[in-house]
Parts: sequence; structure tokens; C-alpha cells
Amino acid sequence: MSSTWHERTANTLGARLGTWYALLFLGSSLALVVVTYVLLASSLAQRDRDLIRSTLVGYAGQFQQGGLPALENAISNDQAAARHERLFVRVSSGGQEVVFYNLPGEWSEFDLSPLDRPGPRTGIWWTDIPRHGTSEVLEVASTYLADGTLLQVGKSSETRVEMLARFRNVLAVAIVLVVVAGAVGGALLTRSTMQPLRQLAGVVQTILQTGRFEARVPVQGTRDALDQLGALFNAMLDRIASLVAGMRGSLDNVAHDLRTPMTRLRAIAERALESRADDPQVYRDALADCLEESERVSEMLNTLMDISEAETGVMRLASEPVDATDILRDARELYADVAEDKGVELTLDAPDGPVVMADRSRLRQVLANLIDNAVKYTPRGGHVALRARLAGDDVVFEVADDGPGIPAEDLPRIFDRLYRGDRSRSERGLGLGLSLVRAIVQAHHGRVEVTSAPDHGATFTLYLPSGRQS
Ligand code: ADP
Repeated sequence: MSSTWHERTANTLGARLGTWYALLFLGSSLALVVVTYVLLASSLAQRDRDLIRSTLVGYAGQFQQGGLPALENAISNDQAAARHERLFVRVSSGGQEVVFYNLPGEWSEFDLSPLDRPGPRTGIWWTDIPRHGTSEVLEVASTYLADGTLLQVGKSSETRVEMLARFRNVLAVAIVLVVVAGAVGGALLTRSTMQPLRQLAGVVQTILQTGRFEARVPVQGTRDALDQLGALFNAMLDRIASLVAGMRGSLDNVAHDLRTPMTRLRAIAERALESRADDPQVYRDALADCLEESERVSEMLNTLMDISEAETGVMRLASEPVDATDILRDARELYADVAEDKGVELTLDAPDGPVVMADRSRLRQVLANLIDNAVKYTPRGGHVALRARLAGDDVVFEVADDGPGIPAEDLPRIFDRLYRGDRSRSERGLGLGLSLVRAIVQAHHGRVEVTSAPDHGATFTLYLPSGRQS
């Protein structure tokens, strides 16, 4: 996987985003321009028509009141006052004879013959006369007056066409500017949007190249989707890094811890081989020792793996509601024979049956380790008490004995892997039981405490979250 892959992906995505952004920008700007243009053109056309119509109605009134002189007077008054643009006015008698004609010079190119066609006797009708070779038209409104005189008022669209042409030029320039702004804006926006993804890809690449989990994605704290992705990615890297470190540490520990029993195994085998004894019993004994030692190694390996799994958080815990009294009763039954053989009294005091959320078999393993120790280290005639109670949000288990207790100097170390008290060496054991107890209890988000005074026994107390809402 080369660096170009990430770059190519980011660039392709960036180019696609940029193009879409620019197209969207251009499309919406064009739509806006077209709508504005159409609205402007139609409102200008409407304005012209309104002017023609109102002038026609005004002149008709003048003509009705004072005849042709009054109309001429009104027209010259309008022109003198420059009240509006110059208008075309034509008055024809009933026999189509033009009696008054006001045609601004610049409009002389219009072919006015369509105006001679008669129209409806009442109301206003419109005639559009195109100017040859241009898009201009002369819009003329016509109406018959009461005495049959035909009054026609018109206006050329020239001014409007020129205005719209200027407006089109302005719009064309504006669109070019909009396209440039859209393309630049799109490029900048895409760049800043793609930045977090580019950084993410960079971090992945660094990790792939170096094999180390130290690189992190810069997080701005803006809480947008990409920022959250970066934060989650960092959290995932933290988790992976701690798991990998835990696994490495566990592997180192296991390798280190297995060295002694493996050396012992090898020594037994070597001694037997070097003895060159004729007696097969010597070899048989050596093989039996090897078998015993290898069983210890395998037990140790299993326990070490359990401890590692629990400590690194990869141990699968099938949590379920567990009745504390029930599980203590089962554990007591399991150790009843061993305790009886040894002459140790094993009692149970868990009356109210609190319920704890825990992995049943792992909790059983924890209690078994503590009870096994208590029975193992308590001399004949001693007493081991099992208790359970509810204390706040915790279910508390206690395994208390009245044995020799644990020397003060040993107390801080008994939970260390492979640590065994001096006085305990005569008893069977691997020195891993309490480490496993602590790792499993912590994996359940609980804690384990020990109190002890020499010759006054030891009490191990587990605090496990009950899992109920208080
Ligand atoms: P192991 O019992 O195999 O030696 P553990 O991890 O279970 O290993 O215990 C570590 C040490 O703690 C023991 O070697 C012993 O010295 C001390 N210990 C544990 N439980 C008791 C107890 N109930 N009474 C006295 N000492 C104990």
C-alpha cells in the first residue's frame, strides 16, 4: 500500500466534492439569474403596456371632450413636460383617413400597414409591429371612440430591449465572477473538509510504516462528525496500544515465569540421562517427576494466561445475576471434604442472599482460590468462615480464617505473581492464586482487600458491584 493510494483516494474524493460544489453553485446562480431576468423583462413589458393603455385612455378622454385640438394640445403638453418616453399616436377618421399622426422620427422604419386592419368595435386591441432585422417591436393599442374615430397609441420596445441587453451583459460578467468564486470557494471548502480525512490517512500510514501506535489525529474539539471520528479513532488507538502493551508485557512475564519450571524439567531429564543407571526404576522416577513438573507447567501456563487476559481486559465475562449465598454454599460443599480431612471447621454465614452481577464460573474460581488458601494455611482445629452481605452498591464476600496470618512484610506482596510467603513453601502452590483473584475481581470492576495479624488469622474481603441501581 503506497502513500499514493491515500493521496489518490483523498484527491479523487476532493475533486468530486469540489466539482459537485462548483456545479451546484453554478446551477443555482444560473437559475437565480434566469428567474431575475425573466421577471425583469416581463415587468418592463408590463410597465410599457400599462403606460400605453393609460395614455390611450387619457387621450380618448381628451378627444371626446375637445376633439382633435384638445388631443394635440395634450400630446404637446406631455412632450413638453417630458412626462414619459415619446409615444406613437395616430387618429383616423371612420373612413381610415389619418387625421393626426405623431410618429417619432426614429420609428419611421416600422411598417405600419398592420395598423390599418380594423379591430373590434369595443375595447382595446393590441398590435405588435416588428422592426425588420431587430428584436424591437412597436406595441400599439387601438380603440374606437364613440364617433367611430380610431385612436392608436404605441411605443417602441427599443429602450426596454437596450436596457435588457445591458442587464444581460452585467449578468454575464456576474456569472463569470460567480463561476470563478464557486470554483475557488469549492476548492478551499473541499480542502478544509478533506483535511481531517487526510490527517486520519496520514496517521494510519505512519502506524503502518512504523508499527508503533504513538501517532494521533489532531482533534479541534468542534464536535462535528469528522472531529468526533478523529476523537473516536484516537480512543481506539489508545485501546489498541494498551492491549498490545498488555499482551507484550504478559508474554514477557509468561516467558520469564516459565523459565524456572522449564529449567527444573530439563535438569530432571539431564540428571537421569547422566546417571547412566542400570536400574530402570531411576528412569521411571525421573519420567514421573517430568510428568509432574510438566503438569505444573501446564497449570501455571493456564493460570498465567487467565491473569493476563483478565489484566488486559480481553477476558470474556458472561455476567449474570448470581446469588451470593448459593455460590458460597457450593464452594463450601466443594471444600467440605478437604476441610474435614484436615480438621478445619468451614462455616457459612450469608443469610440475606444478596445478588451480584458476575461471571459465575470466574467468581467460583476466585472463591475457590481464597478458600483453598484458608484451609491450606489454617492448622488442624482452626476455623474458616465464609460470609456474604450487601454494603451500599457492593456485595461483599469474606473468607476469614484463624490460622497463622500473614506477616506484615509479606502483605504488600502476596498479590504479586509467583510470590509465596517463606512460611508457605512447605505447602503445595504456585504463588499465582491471589494474582488471579485480584485480576478477575478487577475485571469485574471490584476490589480485594486483606487484613491480617500474625497468629490471628487472615481475612480476604471482596467488594463486587451488585449491578443494581441504588
Ligand atoms: P500460593 O498459595 O500458591 O503460595 P497465593 O498467591 O495463593 O499462592 O498466595 C500467596 C501467598 O500469600 C502465599 O504463599 C501465602 O504466603 C500467603 N497467603 C495467602 N493466603 C493466606 C492465608 N489464608 N493465610 C496465610 N497466608 C496466606
